[in-house]
Amino acid sequence: MKVKAVDYAHDGRGVVKTGKDLVFVPNLLIGEEAEITIRSNKKNYSIGEVKNYLSLSKERVTPPCMYYQQCGGCQLQHMTYEHQLEMKQKRVSDALKHIAKLYVPVDDIIKSTSPFEYRNKIQMAFANTKEGLIAGFYQAKTKKVLNINTCLIEHEEGNQVIQTLKILLDSYHVKAYDPITKKGWIKHAVVKKGIYTNELMLIIISQTEGFKKQPQIISALIQKHPNIKTIIHQVNPSIYKVIGDKDHIIYGDGFIHDTLGEFTFKIKPQSFYQVNPPQAKKLYDLALELAKINKQDTVLDAYSGVGTISLFASKKAKHVTGVELIEDAVSDANYNATINHIDNVKFVCADAETFMVSNQSHFDIVIVDPPRDGLKPSFIESIKAMKPKKMVYISCEPSSLARDLMQLKTLFHVKKVVPVDMFSQTYHVESVSLLELK
Ligand code: SAH
Repeated sequence: MKVKAVDYAHDGRGVVKTGKDLVFVPNLLIGEEAEITIRSNKKNYSIGEVKNYLSLSKERVTPPCMYYQQCGGCQLQHMTYEHQLEMKQKRVSDALKHIAKLYVPVDDIIKSTSPFEYRNKIQMAFANTKEGLIAGFYQAKTKKVLNINTCLIEHEEGNQVIQTLKILLDSYHVKAYDPITKKGWIKHAVVKKGIYTNELMLIIISQTEGFKKQPQIISALIQKHPNIKTIIHQVNPSIYKVIGDKDHIIYGDGFIHDTLGEFTFKIKPQSFYQVNPPQAKKLYDLALELAKINKQDTVLDAYSGVGTISLFASKKAKHVTGVELIEDAVSDANYNATINHIDNVKFVCADAETFMVSNQSHFDIVIVDPPRDGLKPSFIESIKAMKPKKMVYISCEPSSLARDLMQLKTLFHVKKVVPVDMFSQTYHVESVSLLELK
């Protein structure tokens, strides 16, 4: 079938309209024509596959990563960076129009100065092959581990640490854990980097105890990568979570620090910390610029993580309350407040909805940064009862943002929506919206 892509699906696949039917075609850019075949039929759409390109867009580039077609971690490497930004900008404004019926102008997306090598956290899975141990990501289609020597969106040092670990383990004949035979040891390795402090943390995750040749491996790693400040071993048989709860610190203190603006943050294996700190700083600066907090204002930072936004807001506000579900993150947030000498913040460990429903205090400004699913109806009802003068909504999913703004627009004017590119080469798009009480 001969087709032309007219739009993008949320994940960057080309959208083709054939009569009333929609076909999503991977690796087809808007305006491109191609011969396709239908690979599968879903309830409301089909999935196609390009057999032969008939015309190519000037926005197409050769993906710089050699693993791009199989890997699945990135979805937009075949587009120029400018075109990725256009696609994300449109995704936000389309969601507002179609879902929220909001026809507000969306500001230009804040681009990244480093569309590659931006991630401060790299996580790879291990597997056994005839040639020895491999480390990499799960393939999009087969879910098998793809041997990856370097991932172009991760920081270079992290890639190198994992390669060194792989070679060392292999030289001692350590095998990857195989869930079918239930044999083997290593499952994952994670490297986190404080990009402004240059401190590295390595987390080695195995199925069972028994770290063979541990002292030799540690000293070889540190010798080769002197920026490693701590190494943690975790035994984590869970199939759902890569990072476990229990740390066995085998080198250093078990945590690293990074700085962001004027603040220092502690990072542990379990801590949530934004993966693209320079862009996160722009996101926080923007959120605070829009909130225009003054010294009389009390602020609620819902979904506060390790307290990043709360600390930035504390400098401007009378008082900030952060609410976060994960206990470890709350204890990190308290620690971060202490080391940064901030005493006008308080962190509450609670489900944000439960907190809002039972909360009796009024907040002048509410900042929310929820996970992908957005806010719960009970949270929105509580906001409507509280009537803060301003709300700043940081979103990582345009469709849930639009669904929530549809509800919130009865109480607030949506004054500004600004997309921010935090995850270049992938379809994810973050945004900051300012809502003012009507
Ligand atoms: N604002 C922080 C964290 C944002 S990520 C930052 O920029 O670093 C979202 C956070 O919401 C995570 O820390 C997650 O643990 C927390 N979270 C998820 N569900 C929650 C809930 N129901 N109530 C409170 N916090 C929740």
